[in-house]
Amino acid sequence: MKVLKGKSIFKGIAIGRIAVYKKQDLAVKREHIDDVQAEFARFEEARQKAIDDLQKLIDKASAEVGEAGAAVLEVHQMMLDDEDYIDSVRNIIDSELVNAEYAVATTGDNFSEMFASMDDDYMKARALDVKDISERLIKVLKGYEDNGIAGEDPVIIVADDLGPSETVQLDRDKVLSFVTRHGSSNSHTAILARTMNIPALIEIDYEDSMDGVMGIVDGQSGEFIVEPDEETEAKYRKLLQDEIENREMLKELKDKATVTKSGRKLNLYANIGGIKDLASVLQNDAEGIGLFRSEFLYLADNDYPSEEEQFQAYKTVAQNMAGKKVIIRTMDIGADKQIDYFGLDHEENPALGYRAIRICLDRPEIFKTQLRAIFRAAMYGNIAIMYPMITSLSEIKRIKAIVEEVKQELKDQGVPFREDVEQGIMIETPAAAVISDLLAPEVDFFSIGTNDLTQYTLAIDRQNAKLDEFYDAHHEAVLRLIKLVVDNSHKAGIWTGICGELGADTSLTETFVKMGVDELSVSPSFILPIRKIVRNMD
Ligand code: PEP
Ligand code: MG
Repeated sequence: MKVLKGKSIFKGIAIGRIAVYKKQDLAVKREHIDDVQAEFARFEEARQKAIDDLQKLIDKASAEVGEAGAAVLEVHQMMLDDEDYIDSVRNIIDSELVNAEYAVATTGDNFSEMFASMDDDYMKARALDVKDISERLIKVLKGYEDNGIAGEDPVIIVADDLGPSETVQLDRDKVLSFVTRHGSSNSHTAILARTMNIPALIEIDYEDSMDGVMGIVDGQSGEFIVEPDEETEAKYRKLLQDEIENREMLKELKDKATVTKSGRKLNLYANIGGIKDLASVLQNDAEGIGLFRSEFLYLADNDYPSEEEQFQAYKTVAQNMAGKKVIIRTMDIGADKQIDYFGLDHEENPALGYRAIRICLDRPEIFKTQLRAIFRAAMYGNIAIMYPMITSLSEIKRIKAIVEEVKQELKDQGVPFREDVEQGIMIETPAAAVISDLLAPEVDFFSIGTNDLTQYTLAIDRQNAKLDEFYDAHHEAVLRLIKLVVDNSHKAGIWTGICGELGADTSLTETFVKMGVDELSVSPSFILPIRKIVRNMD
């Protein structure tokens, strides 16, 4: 038995097999081969496996996001059967006596260059698809599993670090816990762990040889126990059982109102990253969705999600919430959420850089596609829109002008949509908090993003693990800004919520209710514990 000490970023206990997650190295070497037929067979086997893997993904996507979500994958499947593509790979293997990986990579490059140079927009867009299928084939040829997790049973994922685009690809049913060497308490992996209600540790100095052995994650003490002895395992199994019973007890609060004894009502909503989180939202009885981080739709794919894909996703969420409010935040790409296909330049200070609403205002074609999808989906439920990273009045004016254009275009095209969608802004920059009196009359609500508000107020990079001890979200400056925003919103007759992680800090629930905060939007697992606190308040 080995006990490694790290830092907990979400409580709970996990017991299971350890899976060391390897970044997939897709670099390809040109290697000489002698047996052409054997290499043909390797390629053919990989092609069949890639087609089968895609079929599984298509079935899953159709179930989760509907037919439109599966359309891109179907195109990929067809491309894997394309005769020109297959002939090109076989020809390179045969004529140059090279390995299948090299032949696939070369064909991928050649075909994507050819598509990219075409005039037709549809064909141009195929350049990315052909790159994608080539990467998929190379992964199979190199023996990588589709999501890095082999086997059927859920596992404890152990990794150096996990980026948002990696976590979004993980099959959630297969993850018991996240354990990483790097990362910070405010990273999106931490947020994901909270959303999934699974324990997570950082700063664990693991070894690759731990792959496949039993492990225990103690989200209370921050300990990672590898190959536990019988006695330790029995102790933790008992604790896990207690945890499950405690959760059962909280379930008694389901269907109860979130009101104080004196009758003050708090709206208790959930934060989600996508459709995958809906089950947990419903299980924990959230009264709405206060933050739908729509950028995860963009992170999940290798190309911009189409209007139709987005429409289906938003519509599914709205329908599942059956009339409860669903606040969709327009995409917050940039900073720690980087996407290759956006082609963003390298920046010295990405958190202060080209991100969120700044990209949307600079590249309105991306923004308009998302807005069209949201306004259309709003026909199917109680959808509201929220804009991230606002710093000024002029940004709101520019957003409004674009929204008007979008509505007009939908009208002209006879596309059904809802006119009166509530529109709010995130208050996550000190600038927005300080001028919240000027911003309030222009919008329908405020939602305070305390993760970024703390980062920018205290001048502390939320991603920097070394600064965790300085990242004090209880800092008086942050709390005063929150109070100022709440007061200014009420003067203008609008409401204010908190959707950053601080909203889930149960030591502050009473403070927030007393300040007059109208809504808290938290990871689903916090809904019932917070409801319990509010119901016990005078
Ligand atoms: C925030 O900044 O508090 C927030 C909710 O947004 P994100 O964590 O996605 O940046
Ligand atoms: Mg933010």
